[in-house]
Amino acid sequence: MATTRARSVLKNKKLYKVKVDEKLCKGCYFCVKFCPMGVFVRSDIMGDLGYNIAQVKFPEKCTGCKACLLYCPDLAVAIEEQKDGD
Ligand code: SF4
Ligand code: SF4
Repeated sequence: MATTRARSVLKNKKLYKVKVDEKLCKGCYFCVKFCPMGVFVRSDIMGDLGYNIAQVKFPEKCTGCKACLLYCPDLAVAIEEQKDGD
């Protein structure tokens, strides 16, 4: 029974696409610090503005809480709920 419920929860879990815009990110890493699910990591990738940008490492952990959208001072994060077939 518990296994069936667990399967149902997993099946109904919403998935999100998470993106960091390399043109806007200034590498402040607020998203790394404040995402409660640890979706972002620091990276060695240099963005267009000359800063090492944040990287989306674990998008499957995103719950869609939108904390990253609130904390990013440069509007560099975008999240989008994935629809079936995405
Ligand atoms: S909070 Fe925004 S600007 Fe700062 S590292 Fe994350 S994506 Fe880049
Ligand atoms: S929406 Fe929430 S869980 Fe998803 S990446 Fe942003 S802060 Fe993390």
